[in-house]
Amino acid sequence: MGEKTEQAGGCLCGKVRFRVANRAAKAGACHCQSCRRWAGGPLIAIDCGDAVDFEDEEHIVRYRSSDWAERGFCGTCGSNLFYRLVQSGQYMMCAGAFDDQSDLELVSQVFIDEKPDYYAFANETETMTGAELFAKFAPPGGGEE
Ligand SMILES: [Zn+2]
Ligand SMILES: [Zn+2]
Repeated sequence: MGEKTEQAGGCLCGKVRFRVANRAAKAGACHCQSCRRWAGGPLIAIDCGDAVDFEDEEHIVRYRSSDWAERGFCGTCGSNLFYRLVQSGQYMMCAGAFDDQSDLELVSQVFIDEKPDYYAFANETETMTGAELFAKFAPPGGGEE
């Protein structure tokens, strides 16, 4: 077994605390309308796979935002916690929920075609439109990437 680093985070009021194993340092932003409506702005999240350990599942509200995904937040303070792909169980944890964000780097922006004009990140990142994103994860031929 290699070295494991665990990273902790939680909501604003502290009722929800979580731990992930091997959090990546790479964060991605989503500019889609759903994320902006949910988060109050672009959603910046980190792919944490399915290895997320919640201490207080009872305080988490899960909202099924589409056929394929749900969004989780604290039922008391409303802090956004994650976007989760239901089929794979994959958690995209909100970057702002982590206690330590000092190592994070913004590496990608998706749904760039839905980004409104009133803001733009200066970070140099990969960008994808919504169509490009869907094409990447659901290739028309059904083949593996
Ligand atoms: Zn809370
Ligand atoms: Zn989005």
